[in-house]
Amino acid sequence: MAQLEIHQFPTRSDNYGVLIHDPERGATAAIDAPDAEELLAALHEKGWALTHILTTHHHHDHTAGNTIVKRMTGCTIVGPAREADSIPGIDVEVKEGDSVEIGSTTARVIETPGHTRGHVSYLFPEDGIVCVGDTLFSVGCGKLLEGDAKTMWRSLQKLMALPAETQLYCGHEYTRANTKFALTVEPDNAELQARAVEAEELVKRREPALPTTIARELATNPFLRPASPEIQKRLGMEGRELWEIFGETRRRKDRF
Ligand SMILES: [Zn+2]
Repeated sequence: MAQLEIHQFPTRSDNYGVLIHDPERGATAAIDAPDAEELLAALHEKGWALTHILTTHHHHDHTAGNTIVKRMTGCTIVGPAREADSIPGIDVEVKEGDSVEIGSTTARVIETPGHTRGHVSYLFPEDGIVCVGDTLFSVGCGKLLEGDAKTMWRSLQKLMALPAETQLYCGHEYTRANTKFALTVEPDNAELQARAVEAEELVKRREPALPTTIARELATNPFLRPASPEIQKRLGMEGRELWEIFGETRRRKDRF
């Protein structure tokens, strides 16, 4: 199996596009299609022919490019069965545990509802990569727009169980803003403090903080850390259920 090549590019106002390319078979998957023109430009720049769009969820800022990109490239659009009605141009509907072949590699579908009711993530187990859309961000997580805290916490636990070195690609990049909130609920977390400093540097250099890794998120992301004694104390929720503490952290972030 050849090493995958990955290309990230900022798109729309604050989305991040991801292209995953298998040089051996010439297959290329885009994670979502936020904007047709910018996605086609990125493909042109790399000289890659698009074979798949792997849709994480139905939101417009993840699917707006579907129809035009499919017409221009003839690619196959894969997306969650539970949201198939609202995903333009969908060809293949997928559920938990399904596999999608991208050239010589395989993406496995993990259902991660909460941000939307049918949101899915795509894991490339042989390559150590997971694309999580708007479920998990660098030091953050997606808003609970179509799911409750318990549902989202279950989704996050699936991602937390992946190998620690797994590279995490997200649909947006808000690291600097996220570290500011995270420090309000866990100010004494030294790794988080270091990430906040690093995030400032990356913004100055106009570089993304993505990909991140499961290990880094486990150490610094407050939404994955409801078991942290410091967070529990700050929230006045010592000993409560982890999903409840997660839910309260999410509510505080919504008001932040
Ligand atoms: Zn979304």
